[in-house]
Order: sequence, then structure tokens, then C-alpha cells
Amino acid sequence: MNINKAELAGTFFTLEQLPADPRPKVLFLGRSNVGKSSLINALLGQRLARTSASPGKTVSVNYYAVDCAFPGLPRGGGRLLIADLPGYGYARVGKSEILRVRRLLTGFLARAENVRLAVLLIDSRHGFLPPDLDTLAQIVEKNLPILTILTKSDKISSSQQRNLIAKLQHQFGLFAIPFSIRSPEGKGEIWQRIREAL
Ligand code: GDP
Repeated sequence: MNINKAELAGTFFTLEQLPADPRPKVLFLGRSNVGKSSLINALLGQRLARTSASPGKTVSVNYYAVDCAFPGLPRGGGRLLIADLPGYGYARVGKSEILRVRRLLTGFLARAENVRLAVLLIDSRHGFLPPDLDTLAQIVEKNLPILTILTKSDKISSSQQRNLIAKLQHQFGLFAIPFSIRSPEGKGEIWQRIREAL
């Protein structure tokens, strides 16, 4: 993987703060605590996203600017934005916070320019839960290409993984890749899919 540099390029708590930004984007979406920060850090090879054992803390949209020489990216810098969207579906934060997160997500999806791929993270142990279906419906409505990642794949057996992958393919037509931070070599395939989408 030829990443020259990756850095935090913005943190936005409200839709009003979101700048118009034409740079190519890959979105990362998932329930709170799904393992999104861990996956982003693994992909970028550094701890830019904040991980935590307690769910419900990512309440902002974070941009990471990645300088890499991928085909499909603009020349001279080759800047790709990874957009880390707020983790949703964490009930204990209260109704108004749940609504705020959902509004931020929906508004982001409505406004974001030049989105090349939506990476939807699903916890291997739980599969699709109702808030994931809401998010999937919004991504489908926006006609975005989707890559599904089954996170924490070390928590289930390989036959359970195969069943879940087959089920997602059958039910939703989704292509899914298992990932675990315990075996980060899986990130090569994820980067490969991102490159293909750019
Ligand atoms: P986020 O809220 O979606 O950003 O999730 P985090 O990346 O902060 O991870 C939430 C918790 O799950 C943390 O305690 C992580 O250590 C743990 N976690 C993340 N990825 C994995 C994984 O692949 N395997 C296991 N066993 N735990 C993981």
C-alpha cells in the first residue's frame, strides 16, 4: 500500500459546519462500537481515529486526508478524503442525541459531493440490525457503491462468517469482506476494493 501521508483534515459537529468539498470521498458508516475507528486506523497505519471501549462517543464527522498515488485520484497530491461518520444506534445516549446523529448522517449523505464508495460496517456477531437497515436504505437511495465489512470477525467461526456473507449476498445483494484487528492483513483486500471504486 502506497500511502504517503494521512492526517486529520476536519471535524464537524453540525451540518452547518460541513464545507463544500469536491475531493473524492470514501465514507465509513456503522453502529456505535462496531469497530470503525479500529478499522480506519488499521487502514491508515496510524492512530488517527479515536477508539474506545465505551460506545456512543463519535458524534462528529471526521475527515482524514490521505495522500496516495491511486489511479482515479487527481494528480499532484492524489488526495482522497476518508469520511468517518458518527456511529449510530447507541440507545443509551438519549432520544435527542439519536436524532442529532441521524440528522447529521442524513444531511451529510444529501450534501456530500464526489462520494466514490460507502463502506458499511456490520458487527459479525449481530449482522444487520434495524438502524443498519435505515442506513443501507439511505445509501441505496443515493445510488452509492457499497462495500460491506463484517467487523470483529475473530468473534465468530469461519463457517459462521461464510453463512453471514452468503446471507447478505442473498438478502441484499451485498458483497461483504470479514475483518479483524487481530489479523490486519485483511486490510489489503479492503484497499483493493477502495482503489477499484476510485
Ligand atoms: P467505533 O465506536 O465503531 O469507532 O469502535 P472502536 O474501533 O472504538 O472499537 C470498539 C471496541 O471494539 C473497542 O474495544 C475495540 O478494541 C473493539 N474492537 C474493534 N475491532 C475489533 C476486532 O476486530 N476484534 C475484536 N475482538 N475487538 C475489536
